[in-house]
Order: sequence, then structure tokens, then C-alpha cells
Amino acid sequence: MALLPITLFGDKILRKRVSEVKDVDMDTIKLISDMFETMHNASGIGLAANQVGSDKAIFVVDISEIDDEEDKKPIVIINPKIIKSSKDTIVMEEGCLSIPGVRGDVIRPKTITLEYQDTDFKKHTIKADRLLARVMQHEYDHLQGILFTDLVSEELKKKLKKPLNNIKRRKIEFEYPTSNSVDHQLI
Ligand code: ZN
Repeated sequence: MALLPITLFGDKILRKRVSEVKDVDMDTIKLISDMFETMHNASGIGLAANQVGSDKAIFVVDISEIDDEEDKKPIVIINPKIIKSSKDTIVMEEGCLSIPGVRGDVIRPKTITLEYQDTDFKKHTIKADRLLARVMQHEYDHLQGILFTDLVSEELKKKLKKPLNNIKRRKIEFEYPTSNSVDHQLI
């Protein structure tokens, strides 16, 4: 396993739609295990492949360290598709490993139904609520090139302009390996 540098706000790959995974080869298995290690090292609870410079439609989630969520096992999601979202919405504060130091309230559907494939390429459907639904929607958005800061109120967007610019210009300290510390060929 290896720690991968996390891409940051301003890196082009975070704005690209990823490509469908056609088969799970050894490189993909390695990528997934590296994604878990990278996420855990940064104390994250979700990570999308484009956050480590890959254009594959994969994200990983592990919320088992969070109170009342200990029963939720770490999960690998390949080629996800949200097939249903509840009309009920809920406000929750979000953050992102690619946007360090920035947090903001985002309104999203309370529950979702997600279709995906596992590492054996088997199809599954999962109905998620609470924190799991939240993290899955955040990561799903990453794979479409959408960041949570696109979804906050107009008022907060104005306030975030400066901190986001600072991340873009790499004018902040990073607590984990990021694309700031590697050659930009990754991006
Ligand atoms: Zn994120």
C-alpha cells in the first residue's frame, strides 16, 4: 500500500467527469487499497478516485469511526449511479480533503438509492440514509466534477472566495501529502 497525494481545489482533474471502469484489474485493486490508506491517513470518511489523480469511476467510504455509525463497514463503490433521491432534504455541514480548512452547510436529499459494482464486478443496490447518504452524495458529485463548495449558499460562496483562492495558490499548510508536494504532471 502507498499514500497517494491528494489533489486540491484548482486541480483540473477535480472538474472532469471520470470514466466508467470496464474491469477490475490488479492496478485497480492497488488503487483502491491505496485510496483507503490515503483516506485514513488524512482522517477522511470518503475519497473519490479523482482526489488521488485517477479518472476511474470509483469512491471509497468508511464512516465506522463516527459515533453511532460503528456498524457501517468500509465500502468500495465502482461505477455508481444514483437511481433515486428522496424529496425530503436535510442541511449538513460538509468538508473535503481536497479543500482543506473549508466547511459549509449543504442541502441534499435525506436518502438515496445507489446502484454500483463491487471489486468482483457484481452489481448491488444500496439504500443509504443519514451520514452514509451524505458522504455517498458528496463522493458521487466528485466523480461528476462537482465540489461541495458549488452547492453552498450564495452568501457563503462569497465568503469562501478568499480561502478557496488561497488553496488554489497553495498558500496554506497541508497536514497530509497533496498535489502541492508532487510534480504537477499528475494533474
Ligand atoms: Zn470531497
